[in-house]
Amino acid sequence: MMKSNNIPEVALPVCIDKIAPELSLDPEDWESFRACAHVALDDAIEFVKTARQRSVWQPVPERVRNALTGPLPHAGQDLNEVYEEFKNSILPYSTGNTHPRFFGWVHGTGLASGILAEMLAAAMNANCGGRDHGAIYVERAVLGWSKELFGFPDSASGLLVSGTSIANLIALTVARNARATGNMRANGIRDYPRRLVAYASTEVHDCLVKAMELLGLGAASLRKIPSNSRFQIDLRALRDRIADDRALDFEPFCILGTAGTVNTGAFDDLDELAKLCAAEKIWFHVDGAFGGLCALSADLKPRLKGIERADSIAFDFHKWMHVPYDAGCVLIRHADLHRAAFLMRPPYLGELPRGLAGGADWPCDFGPELSRGFRALKVWFAIKHHGTTRFGQLIEQNCAQARYLAEQIAHQPELELLAPVSLNIVCFRYRTSGRDDKALDDLNAELVQDLHESGIAAPSTTNVRGHLAIRVNITNHRSRRADFEVLLSAVLAAGRRRAASST
Ligand SMILES: *Cc1c(COP(=O)(O)O)cnc(C)c1O
Repeated sequence: MMKSNNIPEVALPVCIDKIAPELSLDPEDWESFRACAHVALDDAIEFVKTARQRSVWQPVPERVRNALTGPLPHAGQDLNEVYEEFKNSILPYSTGNTHPRFFGWVHGTGLASGILAEMLAAAMNANCGGRDHGAIYVERAVLGWSKELFGFPDSASGLLVSGTSIANLIALTVARNARATGNMRANGIRDYPRRLVAYASTEVHDCLVKAMELLGLGAASLRKIPSNSRFQIDLRALRDRIADDRALDFEPFCILGTAGTVNTGAFDDLDELAKLCAAEKIWFHVDGAFGGLCALSADLKPRLKGIERADSIAFDFHKWMHVPYDAGCVLIRHADLHRAAFLMRPPYLGELPRGLAGGADWPCDFGPELSRGFRALKVWFAIKHHGTTRFGQLIEQNCAQARYLAEQIAHQPELELLAPVSLNIVCFRYRTSGRDDKALDDLNAELVQDLHESGIAAPSTTNVRGHLAIRVNITNHRSRRADFEVLLSAVLAAGRRRAASST
């Protein structure tokens, strides 16, 4: 029988088993795969549910380190065996940020719903570089919500990325190229007649320094402006430096404001920075890695005033929204400038009017990555499931916990607060009489290592105005007030032990 289009109908083999065996990576026995997967899912749920019952952190033992440096496996192994090895040798040695007393750096806690989203994203295995399929629309939905959150216009563009480091790099690339009107992509900065300089406070995150380096602008072209007593950029010093640079024929192209600095959680005066940028015709970028999400809280949102006038914003979903690593976002007010910095469509990425190769814009038009995973799904799950109100409440709860901790510290003569607590970060140190600053720095560094090794709590360290600080960052939806009492008694015990042993 012939079909009307004259293509002979091909008889499909009825029984695939009769064909000569060919290889694939699918399970040979789907039912035993299913059994293993169900066990793994149950264990994953249990791991998250029982986070509080474990120590925050434990070192990776020699046995495990050795096992993990084994040779390249040539022959495969049963999935159950591989899973057992994971369960015994990898799972127990996590960072610890699922624990309610993890207070280091700025780590999100994770979300139970994230287990589902990550599993389902792996099943779909979407490549979100582009094309016309469901995952792209999910990413657009997440970007749309993000624009709404920050008061950006619908016409703005954006991209989900691994984190704020890359979001900052992308924003700064757009800012640099927007200034250089087209030639930058072809000729690099070499042909640009003046030296491009950017501005941020001394509290700026170092990923922005790296971005300046990567863009060929140089770290020294990021002018670090002193911060005031509240760790905000000093506006007068900033204005003076811009004027000085202009007088020397440098070209100011970007001001980097921070919403929530990594050391102390300070907010630059974004409103004033927005005005200054408008007056000086300078790109206004906001690094809101974690503090940007204060937009979710009616109480805290006023601190972000001015962000709605930024040219670009970088922030993370994996910090204060606890979406599993990794998930960050960049928003660019003018999509055309964003596209102009990255669009490149060789024939093999050509767009077709219909079918899978349709559906402009593609995410690859807005950043350096072509192949990209389905990050948007876990963000979409998180926002749909918990809603923005609950996230806002948890951000406020963490800030209240930081104030509570600061009050407790103020009542302890052996403890000294090293910076005002404006948000969710508490910097303090243990002190004891008869020691100079250097000795106190050493003691506090030892103390933090003692805490990590005890498994009781995990703060990190930083330097605040020349002093080594125990830094407690609270982006943790599992922490309870009592956890801060546990932390403080552990700090005091460790501090006294150290003070007694090394006099
Ligand atoms: C964490 C952080 C960054 C870097 O973000 P990643 O998601 O770790 O890449 C940048 N800026 C600030 C203020 C941060 O807190």
